[in-house]
Amino acid sequence: MSTSTLTPASVRSALEGGPAGSTTILTPDDDGYEAARAIEPGGVPWQPAAIVRPTDTAGVARAVRFARDAGAEVSVRAGGHSALGVGRDHGALTIDLRALDAIDVDVDGRTAWAGGGLTAGAYSSAVGRHGLVTPFGDTASVGIGGITLAGGIGLLARSRGLTIDSLVGAEVVTADGEVLQVDADHDAELFWGLRGGGGNLGVVTRFRYALHELPTVVGGMLLLPGTPESLAGMVAAATEAPRELTVIIMAMSAPPMPFVPAEWHGRLVVMANVCWSGDPAAADAALAPLRAVATAAGGAILDTVHPAPYADHLEAGPGGGIVATAGAFFAEGLDEQAAAHVLAELESSPAMMRAVQLRVLGGAVADVPADATAFAHRDVPLLGYVMAAGPSVEVVDGYKPWVGALAERLRDRDGTYTGFVGDGDPRLARAAYPGATWDRLAALKRTYDPGNLFRGNLNVPPA
Ligand SMILES: Cc1cc2nc3c(=O)[nH]c(=O)nc-3n(C[C@H](O)[C@H](O)[C@H](O)COP(=O)(O)OP(=O)(O)OC[C@H]3O[C@@H](n4cnc5c(N)ncnc54)[C@H](O)[C@@H]3O)c2cc1C
Repeated sequence: MSTSTLTPASVRSALEGGPAGSTTILTPDDDGYEAARAIEPGGVPWQPAAIVRPTDTAGVARAVRFARDAGAEVSVRAGGHSALGVGRDHGALTIDLRALDAIDVDVDGRTAWAGGGLTAGAYSSAVGRHGLVTPFGDTASVGIGGITLAGGIGLLARSRGLTIDSLVGAEVVTADGEVLQVDADHDAELFWGLRGGGGNLGVVTRFRYALHELPTVVGGMLLLPGTPESLAGMVAAATEAPRELTVIIMAMSAPPMPFVPAEWHGRLVVMANVCWSGDPAAADAALAPLRAVATAAGGAILDTVHPAPYADHLEAGPGGGIVATAGAFFAEGLDEQAAAHVLAELESSPAMMRAVQLRVLGGAVADVPADATAFAHRDVPLLGYVMAAGPSVEVVDGYKPWVGALAERLRDRDGTYTGFVGDGDPRLARAAYPGATWDRLAALKRTYDPGNLFRGNLNVPPA
């Protein structure tokens, strides 16, 4: 909780006008404040003293200096998908990066500079016009800011690695308001820390990414009956698949959506979101073992797999209206016994909506040494996520014990993923940043943010 006494007047007099680009300022009495503080998923009772939306790096630097001098906590808002509101403290100055949405694609050089407020979907559509990609997650509405700083685990993870494995530079405003251009040759240790260290080290106003030539991927959904054999079988098939195939698996009650046949509404299903990024002609052969799991379970309920640009395969996003709670875990795998437990828990859970998501890693994620970036969990085979959602914070609070217990039951490896952490518990920060990673990040904090201005995140305090 911030201890500062920011007032609308103090924010306005410091940040309105002046040489920096025009910064929009929203305080609780302003029209637009409510809309500006909305995040995905909703329900986080978060009331910043002011939300400032600079239009350029100088404006961000000015806001950072003001917050530091005022003793205010800074929270950074990019795509607004921070897992359940980490960093959303009352009284803080929120720097909203959404106006930093420029993108500059160097097609020949295979790199792009992207404003820190862009979404993964907007960025992917823009570079996709040139048949190029940078790997992000599975959802278009997620901000490139949060997902890149966390690591970035998505549909191209096994073939092209994490988002940070394609990050080649960044423009950062540090806690003293200085603007640094960092890459492997300039402030290299800071560049190391930005790749996985979350929002701890500064405000990234621009990211520079490597671009991969990939005009088409073959992806979509395989929906199959949810049985212990189909769930464990899908995890096994995805694990054994060539690295060009990444699969994100959800066990859940089938939602009453128009694309799901009515007789399956409310029944347990396994939904495999597949992405083949090898030769499109080889996709069917690569997918055959996954389709065989569906056949053994009685046949696929849906098979929407088709070739399309990567950006078209990103999900739009939750779209508001729900409140969620979640717990992440790492695991070695999922056998039939554990799969049966998952399905039984999903069947008996009191939650209005509930799901267990399983991301099979390996491949290019594991090619990178654990100490090469601040994302240390390179050899984790399976990243899982237990989610429960409902209509209000009060209702969803009641789901938390169930979520926590199931995630704990499925966890058989230490650690967690910054992008999926649901609260700022210091033990989770330690789990995300084990051993030497923690020590290096804490040393970086001492250098670049000794006063811990950027603490509205999965925080690593200065050493
Ligand atoms: C529907 C949904 C789908 C998701 N899918 C995936 C997925 O497939 N793969 C995956 O890896 N993750 C995924 N995530 C997790 C997501 O990557 C994190 O929640 C991430 O933090 C969201 O980033 P954001 O910019 O949208 O959120 P924000 O809430 O705006 O930012 C999150 C935090 O990151 C920091 N931050 C963001 N931008 C900057 C910046 N430019 N400079 C400094 N600090 C910054 C701040 O500390 C901020 O509190 C998903 C989340 C949701 C809700």
